[in-house]
Amino acid sequence: MENRKKAAKAFAPMSHPAPYQTVVVGGGISGLLAAWDLQRAGFQVSIFDAATTWGGCVGRHEVAGVVLDSGAESFATRNTAVAELAVELGLGEKIVEPDPAGAWVWLPEGPVPLPRTGVLGIPSDLGAPEVREALGASGVLRAALDAKMPVTIGTTEPVSSVADLVRARMGKRVLERLVAPVVAGVHSAEAEVLDVDVVAPGLRAGIREHGSLAAAVAAQRANGSKPGAAVAGLEGGMHTLVAALVEKLQAAGVSMHPGHRVKAVFRGDADEAGDAPAPTYDGGEPSPWIIEWEHGTERGYASAKLLVMATDGPMAVKLLGYEMPQLLPFAPARGPDIRLVTMVVDVPELDSAPRGTGVLVAPSVGGIKAKALTHSTAKWRWLADSTGPGTHVVRLSYGRAGVKPSDAVRLTPETLTEEDLIPTALADATTLLGIEITEADLLGADIVRWKGALPFAAVGHHDKIAHVHALANEVPGLVLAGAWMTGNGLAAVVSGTRRQIRAVVDASLRL
Ligand SMILES: Cc1cc2nc3c(=O)[nH]c(=O)nc-3n(C[C@H](O)[C@H](O)[C@H](O)COP(=O)(O)OP(=O)(O)OC[C@H]3O[C@@H](n4cnc5c(N)ncnc54)[C@H](O)[C@@H]3O)c2cc1C
Repeated sequence: MENRKKAAKAFAPMSHPAPYQTVVVGGGISGLLAAWDLQRAGFQVSIFDAATTWGGCVGRHEVAGVVLDSGAESFATRNTAVAELAVELGLGEKIVEPDPAGAWVWLPEGPVPLPRTGVLGIPSDLGAPEVREALGASGVLRAALDAKMPVTIGTTEPVSSVADLVRARMGKRVLERLVAPVVAGVHSAEAEVLDVDVVAPGLRAGIREHGSLAAAVAAQRANGSKPGAAVAGLEGGMHTLVAALVEKLQAAGVSMHPGHRVKAVFRGDADEAGDAPAPTYDGGEPSPWIIEWEHGTERGYASAKLLVMATDGPMAVKLLGYEMPQLLPFAPARGPDIRLVTMVVDVPELDSAPRGTGVLVAPSVGGIKAKALTHSTAKWRWLADSTGPGTHVVRLSYGRAGVKPSDAVRLTPETLTEEDLIPTALADATTLLGIEITEADLLGADIVRWKGALPFAAVGHHDKIAHVHALANEVPGLVLAGAWMTGNGLAAVVSGTRRQIRAVVDASLRL
């Protein structure tokens, strides 16, 4: 590292043409958005991403000539952040709702429609016929105790997993038959290990306010930006949001560096050889950040007064660990490895959308390896129009962070070899959709690996992140952005990143 400091002194352009020269590390949606908001506030911005394409988890791929989302394919409408961004980028007219048919959940006895009035699968209306069908009379009776028990149950512990909260208030059947499949589908993790305050912020406070878990869920649903679907999408796919943002950044002259993996960040000093201890910030101007990058065989350095770290959490802590060793104990757990198998098939029987927009699989179900299937052409009208009748897009996901090693072995994608994955996906799709789909029906297929891309909000993550926020606030010229800081999902990432950047801009204006 000391050699790096010396090298940085030799290579880095140390005179800053603009007062707020900024480097953003990570060009997922949070990094791109941070770059956009900072650029518009007059900061001079450079952005680096290790990948050769922008957008991180909001990616695109082409399967059998159809351009599709390779990662995120919708956004939650519980806030207006993503819709507002889409409007700002000229995509307002492209916002679409999914087909109202809704999804199904696969229980050990078979498929039932997924109740629609929930948050994370927790039902708000125990009288709904789908809730009764999924839980049975005894399950509904147990869940109804939620309304009779004191509000302290599930709300007094400093931290709680999703499973502990649901089990305590509504019982095991709600947990196993509704919540576990939804949580696995959305967060690729078991409800037992997820911090409820991160994945459903405000829910525990809502119990105290509204008197029960069901009422808290109903209140959260009612607070959504609009009635109807809990998610929306963009005609053309969510990746068009990234394309529009990148176009704006390029047009605005942001210095963009795809394929540049950042290897280290540290404080450099223009006047010293670089072997001084890490600087303290009790007055005076801190040394600039030095960002060391690698692009193929090329290596180089950039310097910045403001550093926005918008990578995944483990990478951000690793890169900052030299200057901020106090951050190391708060490194978040690595996210699960997920594989998505997307298949374009010629099966006219699927025109009837036998399982609505898709199926979530309860973890207790044997014989099906996928945790979820999205019937994309049933979910998105624009996609069905583009493929035409008879041609369908189905996407199956594999892998989740488990609680027991036996689960982890059964469910992680490592247990499926690459050659096995397509036949496994065909078999799973046949079972889940109830219509035989064979290799002969395949027009094309693609396997996308997301390695640790989803932040893993393990129990205690909420407190950990509060500490990380506090530590980052003590360091001048540093913003920690991204899903690990703001919560998983585009709604959380977009609103959280904008809030963080607005605070930086406001603070800089006061200087
Ligand atoms: C398969 C999948 C499906 C999803 N589906 C949905 C969905 O339908 N709806 C929804 O709301 N959310 C969904 N999500 C979650 C959502 O996509 C993410 O929460 C969000 O995109 C995260 O954005 P981000 O910018 O924080 O991180 P990322 O998108 O992970 O971006 C981080 C970036 O940092 C870069 N990077 C890492 N290390 C370095 C380094 N050393 N140097 C330079 N660059 C580096 C990476 O290449 C990456 O581009 C999904 C996620 C996945 C993985």
